[in-house]
Amino acid sequence: MYKIAVLPGDGIGPEIVPEAVKVLEVVARRTGIEFKFTEALVGGAAIDACGRALPPETLELCRQSDAVLLGAVGGPKWDALPPEERPETAALLPLRKELGLYANLRPAYLFEPLAEASPLKREIVSGTDLIIIRELTGGLYFGPKKREKTEGDEMAYDTMFYTRAEIERIVRLAFQIARSRRRHLTSVDKANVLTSSRLWRDTVESLKGEFPDVTVEHMYVDNCAMQLVRRPTQFDVIVTENTFGDILSDQASVLTGSIGMLPSASIGGSTALYEPVHGSAPDIAGQQKANPLATILSAAMMLKYSFKMDREAAAVEDAVGRVLAKGYRTADIYVPGTKLVGTAEMGTLVRRELQEG
Ligand code: NAD
Repeated sequence: MYKIAVLPGDGIGPEIVPEAVKVLEVVARRTGIEFKFTEALVGGAAIDACGRALPPETLELCRQSDAVLLGAVGGPKWDALPPEERPETAALLPLRKELGLYANLRPAYLFEPLAEASPLKREIVSGTDLIIIRELTGGLYFGPKKREKTEGDEMAYDTMFYTRAEIERIVRLAFQIARSRRRHLTSVDKANVLTSSRLWRDTVESLKGEFPDVTVEHMYVDNCAMQLVRRPTQFDVIVTENTFGDILSDQASVLTGSIGMLPSASIGGSTALYEPVHGSAPDIAGQQKANPLATILSAAMMLKYSFKMDREAAAVEDAVGRVLAKGYRTADIYVPGTKLVGTAEMGTLVRRELQEG
């Protein structure tokens, strides 16, 4: 039995998360493995109910669970709050920190029926299947920083700070994930300029002997940004530090069509967190227009990475692929000639394919 904390959050969260939960219920019936779902408040919904974006009981539930499924947090209602009290900062950052989640995994996989939704030409994106592994708790965002007035001027600095141990744990994870895929690892840095990147590169070199079956290449971040749009199919697993990963993963996300298709996982501690890449989409909330596939694919990542149910994860992904191949689309991926469906209907279609598959 696996315990899953379910945090729908705000905006479209309460519409998309139940669709993913119901997909996991089908998986439970197919396999006989029991999932125990417990729902809790997070984000603006939690601020409204009890004044805190991450209530202690929600955090405790997450700690006690085997995995967390999150929708999204935030929205205009809470935008006027001071930055440190807003749902995004007051819920997501402490949740990641408390769960010790140091690695963010973002796959960019092109479902072929959606090739026309990509801003790039079909011949460039066709076959794209990569994953970006971003370090999440170190680097520029967390290193020493300061801003102060000086004589007639003002100064500020951030520090890209890494220890070898921090680099080792994420690079090791990336090697392991590469092993479960096509065994090709691209480590992205700026070692021609940055000292922290040289430590990063040395660390990758020192670990590669442990993974002789994985091919490793080093790539400068500027080149990687270019290669991602020139020939994304050359990549399998990309591992990189926090800031580079933040930028590259957003860039990679548009390759494969809508943000409504993109899942993510944050892993590292004993409980991992699975959530769609997108936010709470207040502009379409409550209208059954949201695409639930990013959340359903996040649940598939949960099956793979937290429960080692690779076959079931693949079955969910295949079910999504078949629904798209049959021409069903939510509004964000709709093109003339396809069949427009709402959030719940898309979820039902995926479950039907999964049951039949
Ligand atoms: P967003 O991702 O919520 O929306 C951007 C655009 O994409 C909108 O037009 C929206 O309608 C569309 N979109 C997003 N998800 C979709 C889906 N599943 N199906 C169809 N269309 C979808 O980003 P935003 O508008 O910049 O932010 C809205 C709120 O969400 C803000 O409060 C922001 O801070 C928050 N946010 C939260 C997270 C998170 O919880 N992890 C991430 C990003 C933004």
